[in-house]
Formats: sequence, structure tokens, C-alpha cells
Amino acid sequence: MTFQKPPLNDSAEDRNPPVSNRDLLILLGLFLGVVVGVVWLLGLLVNNLVWLIPTQVEKTLGHLIVPAYERLAQPTPAQDVLNQLLQRLEQQLPEEQRQERDYRVLYVPDETVNALAVPGDVIIIYQGLVAQAESENELAMVLGHELGHFAHRDHLRSLGREILFRAIAATFLGDLGALQSVAVSGVSAISRSHYSQSQELQADEMGLTLLNAVYGHAGGATDFFRRLRQQRGSGIAFLSTHPSPRNRVNKLERLIQERGYSVGKISPLPPSLVD
Ligand SMILES: [Zn+2]
Repeated sequence: MTFQKPPLNDSAEDRNPPVSNRDLLILLGLFLGVVVGVVWLLGLLVNNLVWLIPTQVEKTLGHLIVPAYERLAQPTPAQDVLNQLLQRLEQQLPEEQRQERDYRVLYVPDETVNALAVPGDVIIIYQGLVAQAESENELAMVLGHELGHFAHRDHLRSLGREILFRAIAATFLGDLGALQSVAVSGVSAISRSHYSQSQELQADEMGLTLLNAVYGHAGGATDFFRRLRQQRGSGIAFLSTHPSPRNRVNKLERLIQERGYSVGKISPLPPSLVD
């Protein structure tokens, strides 16, 4: 193969040949690729950083956010019973998860049908949710599910990067001004929190494990979600913060089969939880 040397030409046009549209598109594509890559990496980093957040920061967040819910809660016999149920589930948690934690339920007398995992080891249970439940086992499943969110640190992810970074700074730098704003935006982020399908399924899996460990069978695991499924479109908060009950029921049923759990007799609601 022979190369024919192009004739030398000193004109500016040849030294800087015009950029073709194709070149521009390639450049643009490369640029967009880099941007997408960086965003993806950042997302990955934040997802993993959540595991590195020390419990100290979580406690700071708890001190800031929990009082807002404590003001709404009522120390009723219902709250005591829910806490006793929570304790039974907690005893089944792996040792390392039990050591640093002291979970408790705050029972909020409000018609909202929802339960929330709040930084500071607190599970908010609304009266509206308890009113929907028809057995102790169902409530144990909901509490176990929320314990799953803590175990996977979903409750921190739902706060979002900004609040987390501010809380970390406030914890280590003692920035009192930042603390108040963390409290306000934290409560609002929690009330808007929306978990992904995979976060929900993972939390359900843990709920099922704990339910089976406490009762020796998986009876009542799907009852609550099944009932809510029939009430779709009724503006139930649990359905907007905990999406797709149908997939969850299917997945739970599959797990029960795979693990060979039996489905035994369910326990009635404790008297203080009956309307
Ligand atoms: Zn959930």
C-alpha cells in the first residue's frame, strides 16, 4: 500500500479543518456519557456511604427529629402493647443488630394508615394502621418490616443527601444553626419518603423471618397487605409510601413456600388494640 502525501498547503483552513456535524455528535455523546457516568458513580457512592454513617450521626438525627413525633404520640396502653410486641421481634434480630439499638414504638392517634421508620430507633405507628389490622401477627409483620428498613438503613436513605450531609456536619462541627433546619426538613422528608420496590421487598423478607421466628409459623404475613390491596385508590398513606402490595404478597407467598414455613393459627389482637 502506498501513501500519497497530500500537497503541503499552509492555509488556515487545512490546519484547522472544519468540524463536521458527525464529530460534534460524537463529542456531545462522549460528554453526555461522562456526565451520566459521574451521576451514576455519585449515586453509587451515596448508596454505600449510608453504611458508613456512624450511629452517632443517627442519634443526632433522632434527637432532632423524634421530638416532633413525640409531641403527636400518646403513651396509651396500645403503645405499651405495641412495644411489647416489638421487643419480641427485636429478640430475634441478629446479635450485632441488637447491640447498638433500642427500638421503640410511638403510637400516634391519627387516622393515617401508615407506619414509619424514623432515625433514632423509633417506629411510628398510626392508629389508622392498627384499626386496619385484624390479628397480632399482622401487626408483628408490619413492625418486622419496619425493622427491616432500619437494618438496610432505608430510613437514612429516605432523608436524602442534603439532610445527611448537614447532619454529619452538625454532629462533628457542632453547628447549632444547621441543627434546627435538619429537624424541620427531616420530618418533612420522612413524611414524603417513598421506598423503592426492592427496598420494600427486602424489608418484607426481614419481617417474614422475624414473624416466623416469634410465632413459629408465618400465619398473618400477607393478610395486612392483601387487605390494603383491596382498598387501592382510597388514599391510604401506606400504599403511597409502600408501593405495589400485589407484588409483595406474591413474593411473600413464594418465600413462605421456598423456606418451608408453616402457616399456623393467628393470634387475635390484644384487647387494648381493638377499637
Ligand atoms: Zn416499607
